[in-house]
Amino acid sequence: MAEPAYRRVVVKVSGEYLAGDQSFGIHQPTIDRIASDLIRARELGVEIAVVVGGGNIFRGVEVSSRGVSRTTGDTMGMLATVMNCLALESALERKGQSARTLCAFVMPQISELFTRAAAHRYLAEGRIVLLAGGTGNPYFTTDTTAVLRASEIGAQAVLKATNVDGVYSADPKKDPSAKRFERLSHSQAVEGGYKVMDATAFALARETSLPIIVFSIAEAGSIGAILSGKGKGTIVSG
Ligand code: UDP
Repeated sequence: MAEPAYRRVVVKVSGEYLAGDQSFGIHQPTIDRIASDLIRARELGVEIAVVVGGGNIFRGVEVSSRGVSRTTGDTMGMLATVMNCLALESALERKGQSARTLCAFVMPQISELFTRAAAHRYLAEGRIVLLAGGTGNPYFTTDTTAVLRASEIGAQAVLKATNVDGVYSADPKKDPSAKRFERLSHSQAVEGGYKVMDATAFALARETSLPIIVFSIAEAGSIGAILSGKGKGTIVSG
């Protein structure tokens, strides 16, 4: 079997995906499936940190239209990511994979604060590290968090797990003529305004020369397939 191309990666899983076919909350079979995929990927010998979104519970921009300020809404969104991380941590531990949640802000009763030192230590111990709380700041997304944390902890790539098998020129579910890109430069991704990931995330990845691989997580084992170079996705780099 080919050696994985990366020694350490950050996997970004959207909160929305954790809802499965529900419109809200956590779909346990889906989170269990993602946990199994992460464990199989870890078994390839790759150190794995995971940034989990919160869109299945709260998105600041959505609740802010209901009488909550944007910054409070974003705080609620960041707290939602903590809930998702705890659920994924439980799923991983139940399957025998040691995992640790590190949070961007202080919640001493619930999880340890994210520091690079703690992340390095737990990853070196073979644990899967779950990065909760986004960046800890409003007006950012967990896509940007994934690029930020990957850059901070020296990961060699961000694996952005989505519902589609790469970056398309338009939403392929709505526009059958949408073109799928095999490769894009960071600048093309920033300028293209592709909806799959926000421009701040692409811009930071350009700044830190970090490759992003956008791929579909719909198939079981897709994270491991990408790491072994057998998966299908769009590589954003250079
Ligand atoms: N969020 C934030 N700062 C961050 C990351 C996230 O304020 O650094 C908030 C924001 O309100 C966002 C919500 O948390 O809408 C959930 O994150 P995101 O939308 O990225 O989740 P996903 O789309 O991946 O489920």
